Amino acid sequence: MAPWLLITALLLLAYLSFQYSGTPQPSYEIAYSQFKELAREGLVESLQLKGDAASGILKASEAIGPRGESAKHFTTRIPAFGDDTLLPLLESQGIELQVSSETGKTGPLAILLSLLPWLFLMLFFFWIYHRTASALGGRLGGPEELKKFLEAPAQNAEQPKVTFADVAGQENAKGEVTELVEFLKHPENFHRLGAEIPHGVLLMGAPGTGKTLLARALAGEAGVPFFSISGSQFIEVFVGVGAARVRHLFAAAKKNAPSIVFVDELDSIGRTRGTGLGGGHDEREQTLNQILAEMDGFSGHEAVIVLAATNRPDVLDPALLRPGRFDRHVVLDLPDRKDRLAILKVHTRKMPLGDKVDLDGIAAGSPGFSGADIKNLANEAAIIAARKRQNEVRMQDFEEARDKVLLGTVRTLAIQPEEHHRLAVHEAGHTLVAWFLPHADPLYKVTIIPRGGALGGTQQLPEEERHTLSEEYLRDRLAVILGGRSAEKELLKTMSSGAEDDIHQATTLARAMVARWGMSEEIGPVDLRESEEHPFLGREIAQPRHYSEHSAEVVDQAVQTLLREAEQRALAIIREHQDKLARLISTLEQQETLHREQIEQCLGTAPRNRPLPPATH
Ligand code: ADP
Ligand code: MG
Ligand code: ZN
Repeated sequence: MAPWLLITALLLLAYLSFQYSGTPQPSYEIAYSQFKELAREGLVESLQLKGDAASGILKASEAIGPRGESAKHFTTRIPAFGDDTLLPLLESQGIELQVSSETGKTGPLAILLSLLPWLFLMLFFFWIYHRTASALGGRLGGPEELKKFLEAPAQNAEQPKVTFADVAGQENAKGEVTELVEFLKHPENFHRLGAEIPHGVLLMGAPGTGKTLLARALAGEAGVPFFSISGSQFIEVFVGVGAARVRHLFAAAKKNAPSIVFVDELDSIGRTRGTGLGGGHDEREQTLNQILAEMDGFSGHEAVIVLAATNRPDVLDPALLRPGRFDRHVVLDLPDRKDRLAILKVHTRKMPLGDKVDLDGIAAGSPGFSGADIKNLANEAAIIAARKRQNEVRMQDFEEARDKVLLGTVRTLAIQPEEHHRLAVHEAGHTLVAWFLPHADPLYKVTIIPRGGALGGTQQLPEEERHTLSEEYLRDRLAVILGGRSAEKELLKTMSSGAEDDIHQATTLARAMVARWGMSEEIGPVDLRESEEHPFLGREIAQPRHYSEHSAEVVDQAVQTLLREAEQRALAIIREHQDKLARLISTLEQQETLHREQIEQCLGTAPRNRPLPPATH
């Protein structure tokens, strides 16, 4: 710890030299009038003048301090307008007068002494700089090392070997980035036709869904260099480093175009600016601004694609998502059973597997696992097998590994078996009700794989864009929303907190039907809105109420009636089609995601005689 010893000594010396470059004797600043008083009384020995500053010595110690402290030395200020009586006074009292234009002591030693603190300060800063540069550069070094450090990511371009074949499942996401391969391979084809290459692509998905993998696979597929930088790298570094690194990175990427710049963990730098506690984060902001500036600086001809990954698209600064920046969005979902099997196959490719290993069974038993969890599971199984000194990985090992992964990864969205069944019942409830109600939107797909914040989801697609909503449609919609909870209630004889969102949604809708759209007999066509959507703030703000207490009660009553009626309709459908519902639940439990054709297989043709929209899948 020699540097610390050294620095302590330096600081001590600096402190001492500060002490001794000042006056060692106590001295007080006194008023000019007080000085003249003292002079008239013949108590002043000598006076020194430097401009308007005067310091003097008394013949003996006097009580001149602000609290009556006695001292021989004093300082005072000569009034700027001059004082004609000063010189005569000094002469009459025989006070010795020295006038100097220099400040401070003279003589080489005094000058050195007064410079000493600054010298030490400079030494100290130099030492800090040195330490920083060496810590950053890994070795002791000067500015060269610092430069290297800033350029480090730019020089770490790699040529990934992974391709789309290594990314199992994620067909949607792969499909969307496939066209970028063409851009990167033959940019001239696009330029010739005047097409601009898209620059910013944002990969969104839960942790471990393969965002980083997909980005690298794109580079591997197109055979272009991959420059990557991670948002979290900027957080603990000194201000300005992030921006400098971004600059170097983009410069290198442009030089090596066609190429890919990958910004991992974009949310850690790209959070909405100007919010949050502790004020703005300078470093983050500078880095973010630099990224935006670089992206805006593309001429449209550089074949550089900027990919960014985030698992929190909701917190991103809107500036990042503007046209010309990260305006293309690719969503990576957690894998369903089929995709989990595919990922398992990729990661067990090189393992000697026992005869009884049932990969499909393992995939079925790991709902909610991400791609990274599955990779982890396969690896753990191999480790367990190796510890047992087996020469193959057996089913038993996979089962142990699964429990280990489930226990170890608290953050995963992995679903427990009971939960799995409950989710299937809930989503099947929504689906069944939507299927049999004549005015509901046609079904598109249903899944019990968590995505976004919500667990599971039943997706309906409206046939055409709706501008006005009919009462029949809205009533059916309420029944569909409450269908999930109704199924749980009917089949499991219990309710769960999973329906919170549904209830909120249904209540909001019912309230609008009653209070805004006049769809209840009790109220009639009266506007009884409670609050106004603020067009700019995009949320409800409190507004004074324009109606009576009585009306409020009637509204509440009418909302309840609507909701109860919708629940009854949902329950009626569920009771009528129990067998179909059971079939749907077990299929859903097995396959986790069902598209329209598979739903049709369970439920028969939808009783509505209108064509279903073409499947997007
Ligand atoms: P993210 O960046 O979304 O957090 P990663 O790309 O880092 O996830 O994924 C971590 C690892 O999980 C990858 O290196 C890969 O081995 C595995 N993995 C994730 N998704 C897949 C997938 N769809 N196919 C194959 N392996 C996957
Ligand atoms: Mg990643
Ligand atoms: Zn629901």
